[in-house]
Parts: sequence; C-alpha cells; structure tokens
Amino acid sequence: MKQKHLKIFRVVFSLLLLLGITSLFVDFRELIPTAWADRLLFLQFVPSVIQFITVPAVLSAGFIIILVLTALFGRVYCSFICPLGIFQDIVSWISKKAKVIKRYKFRKALNYLRYPVLALVVISLLFGSMFVLNLLDPYSSFGRIFSDIVRPGIIAANNGLASLFEKFDMYFLYRLNLDLVTWKTVFIPAVLVIAVVVLAFYYGRLYCNAICPVGTVLGFLSRFSVFRIRMDKATCTKCGKCAFACKSTCINIKTQEVDNSRCVACYNCIDVCPENSIKYMTGKGSAKAAFKPVAVTTDDSKREFIGKTLVYAVALTGLSEKVFSAETEDRPAGKIKNPKKYPVTPPGSVSIRHFTDRCTACHLCISVCPTKTLQPSFLEYGFTGMSQPHMDYGIEYCNFECTKCGEVCPTGAILPITVEEKKLEQLGKVNFVKTKCIVYTDNTSCGSCSEHCPTQAVKMVPYKDDLTIPETDTDICIGCGACEFACPVKPHTAIFVDGNTVHQVAKAPKVEELKQESSDDFLF
Ligand code: SF4
Ligand code: SF4
Ligand code: SF4
Repeated sequence: MKQKHLKIFRVVFSLLLLLGITSLFVDFRELIPTAWADRLLFLQFVPSVIQFITVPAVLSAGFIIILVLTALFGRVYCSFICPLGIFQDIVSWISKKAKVIKRYKFRKALNYLRYPVLALVVISLLFGSMFVLNLLDPYSSFGRIFSDIVRPGIIAANNGLASLFEKFDMYFLYRLNLDLVTWKTVFIPAVLVIAVVVLAFYYGRLYCNAICPVGTVLGFLSRFSVFRIRMDKATCTKCGKCAFACKSTCINIKTQEVDNSRCVACYNCIDVCPENSIKYMTGKGSAKAAFKPVAVTTDDSKREFIGKTLVYAVALTGLSEKVFSAETEDRPAGKIKNPKKYPVTPPGSVSIRHFTDRCTACHLCISVCPTKTLQPSFLEYGFTGMSQPHMDYGIEYCNFECTKCGEVCPTGAILPITVEEKKLEQLGKVNFVKTKCIVYTDNTSCGSCSEHCPTQAVKMVPYKDDLTIPETDTDICIGCGACEFACPVKPHTAIFVDGNTVHQVAKAPKVEELKQESSDDFLF
C-alpha cells in the first residue's frame, strides 16, 4: 500500500503547530492567552530538558516523549515539531517551486562538522557556558528570528496600513512603537536567519544535519528506530526519484541505502517512488536496539546524574565570578559613571544565576511583555549571556499587576508566580544620587519618581525653601523600575535600580500610604 497519508499527516500537523508557535511570538495585539504557551511548547527538546532539571515533573518531561518517539519513529521531532525545521521546509519548498533547486543529490554525512559542533556544545556546558547551546538550539533560534525580526516587520506593516486607512478616516488599526528595534536586538537573529534561509534554500536540511545539536543527538537514536525508511532492493529500479526528493540528501541510490541518522522523517521519498519500493516500516532486530537509549533516560540515577551534571555545568555560566562572590556582599550605592552594578532579571527568575543558567534566549517573554521592559541583553550578563533578556528601565518599567513572562517561559528560567507574590518580589533596590537630581542641581520641583512608585519606596521629603526631595526606602522597594523610567535626568538617571543577585521579599508597604496615594493620581 502506498503510504501517501504519512506526508499529508506530517504537512498538516507541522503547519498547524508552526502556526500556533509563530502566533505566540508575533501576537502584538495580545490575542493569544499565555496559557497556550505551555501546551504548544511542551515538546520543544532543549527547553524541556532544562525545565525538567529545574522543576522535575511530568508536565516538564516533553523531551522524554521526544526520545521515545525518536526511538520508535525516527527524527519525527525534526519534521513535525521543531519550528526551525518546519520553517526550513517551507524555504526549501519555495526554492523548489522557484525551480532554484530542482533535485537534491546524495551527500556523505558531514560528521567532521556535526560531531565537533555537538562536542563544542557539551564542552562549553561543562566549562560553564550556555552560550553555544543558546546560539544553536533550534527552538530558541526560531524564537529570536520571529520575536526580533518578523514581529517588528509585522508591526511595521500594521503601522503602514494604519496610516493608509487613517487617510480614509478609518481607525480600526492603530500604530505601535517600533523605536525599540536597534542593531543590538537584530544583529544575532539577522545573521541566523540569513544563514538558515540560505542553507535551506540551496541545501535542504543541511543545517539540521551538520550544525543543529538536537538533530545530532536525535540522529544517534534514529539510526536504530523501530520504524524507519527502508528500500526494497528487489523492486527498486534505481530511478533515483527518491534521492532527488530527499532534502536531507541521505538516500544513496547506488548502494540503495538510507542514512537514518540524517533522515528527518519527512516521507517525501515515499511520495515520489513510482515502484512503491521505499517504505516506512519496521525491520528485523531494530526494536530491541531502539528502546535501549530510552531505558537509559528513564533510569532515575542516570537522570539524576545528567541533571546534576548539567545543573553543575550551567551553574558556572553567564556571569563572571563577581556575581557569585557578591551574593553575600553589601553593595554600595551606585555612582554617576557606573550607575548599575548588576542587571535586573524579571520577576520569578529567582536570581541572576538561576536565570542565566536556564534561559535559552528564545525571547518569548520579550514578545509577551506588554510594556517591553524586557529586552535582549548585549553585554549586561557578560559575553556568554548575550541575548538573554534583562529589564531595561530606560525603555519602560515592570507593570505592577503583570506576571506574563513567568506564564510563558518554557525553560523555568522565569518561574510562574502569582500577582500577590510579584508585588513583594524585590528584583533590585532603588539608589538615589542626590547630586544628579534636578531638585538639587536646578533648585526646581520634581517628584516624578515618587509619583510613579507603586509602593511609595520613594517619598518626597522637605528639602529647602518650599522644595521637596526624594527619600528612598529599600526595604519596601520591589525594583520595578518605575522611578528610574520616570526620572527626567538623562542618560544616567538620578535614581536607578541596581539588580539583586538573588531576588528577595520586600516588606509590604503601609496600607495608609498606598490608600492616600490612590486617592490622588496613583499611576498603577
Ligand atoms: S535538526 Fe535541529 S533544526 Fe533541524 S529539525 Fe531537527 S531539531 Fe530542528
Ligand atoms: S512581569 Fe514585568 S517584565 Fe514580566 S512581562 Fe510583565 S511587565 Fe514584562
Ligand atoms: S526567560 Fe524568556 S528568553 Fe529565556 S527561555 Fe524563558 S521565555 Fe525564553
């Protein structure tokens, strides 16, 4: 029987999943509930491994399902589930339709590239850096491309249409701010998208079989999968149609063999074979071998070992030693030239170390952050933490009532918290530099910081003449950045938040003070 239904199933399933995942990243109108993120991203391999290490639970064990599926069916992750893989398939399809690539031809596996790349990822983890993994993880790469490049592109198109409709007195579209797009936010995703598109356009799944660490890991397992693509040498006429259709270039028509470590289970070959000689089927002796690796992954002691090794490895990542040694240090107040000693990590991220050890820089939190306070970092966490999000209070401040970033983070770098917990989670502490404050320098009234502070950790107290000047209370400050954002002194504000290396619980503000403020012009 011709197995045409396999390709149809793959195409429909993968496009629906891609649509769902893409909408999470580009939903600038905030139509998609954040709860969808858990369901849509449950099977993403690297985030799932990291989340499982952080919060061991059935709900974070998607990668075990992927390993079992791979042992049974080959690299179905790559064709059905990986958004970067499906994206490459679309690019390859366009290339074929444009007749740029008319047919693929068999190539030997680039083992001299794929294994060293995987080794580099493992070695960098062992040496304490997530950087290489973050750079190459396919889900996170897809996220960065769609969050940092495609989403601004869609917003620009929306703004263009909004301007056009305004000319006809139609206002159902509204413009959004695009000023946040800078070379720092688009540089890494731009290089990545160019590389991925060029490779997919001319070489099919070369990225997946030469660079992607997930593809290489799953490739080990898929060599022995129970179901895999097999050729019937007796009926095959060596017409080569299957090899021409194989975007993994893994069908050797001369030897009539398929390299299952590179086959991404797309079933294109089955679809085109006129003799029905290529099939997706079981083979002798495969089942036993295939299930061995899965047994390893469910073994508790091994799992614990892998977990501990990875946690230990990544525990050394991201920040330089100054952060770790400083966890117990008292930090002095910021100075004018060096206002911040530590970056601020989002609510729910526990500590800078917890965050940088687990964040794969997929930028989903950046996409859903309604205020855009979360921005990709440049060197705030050091070179190895490049692209991991940080709170940029020059752009906005963290909304007092919001917990969205923790609701969507698939790795556990930002843990979900309640609004009540968030209102007392101290991300950093306020620092006031009196000599920069315009009340001091210009003898003028201000108080913008105090007006914006949701906890009244900044109060205006008598200064001289009729003027008042800010006074801060670091015990009740939650480090939301509202004061820093509101301060008119630029570029280095007179009041700023220095990140806590470990998040703390702030003291609850006095209710009378909040009530009094809310009767005035309370901004939250
Ligand atoms: S090889 Fe990597 S990028 Fe390609 S589909 Fe598989 S996981 Fe995704
Ligand atoms: S909690 Fe703050 S940082 Fe997180 S999404 Fe909301 S506003 Fe953005
Ligand atoms: S913290 Fe943000 S960028 Fe990092 S893994 Fe979570 S959602 Fe992705």
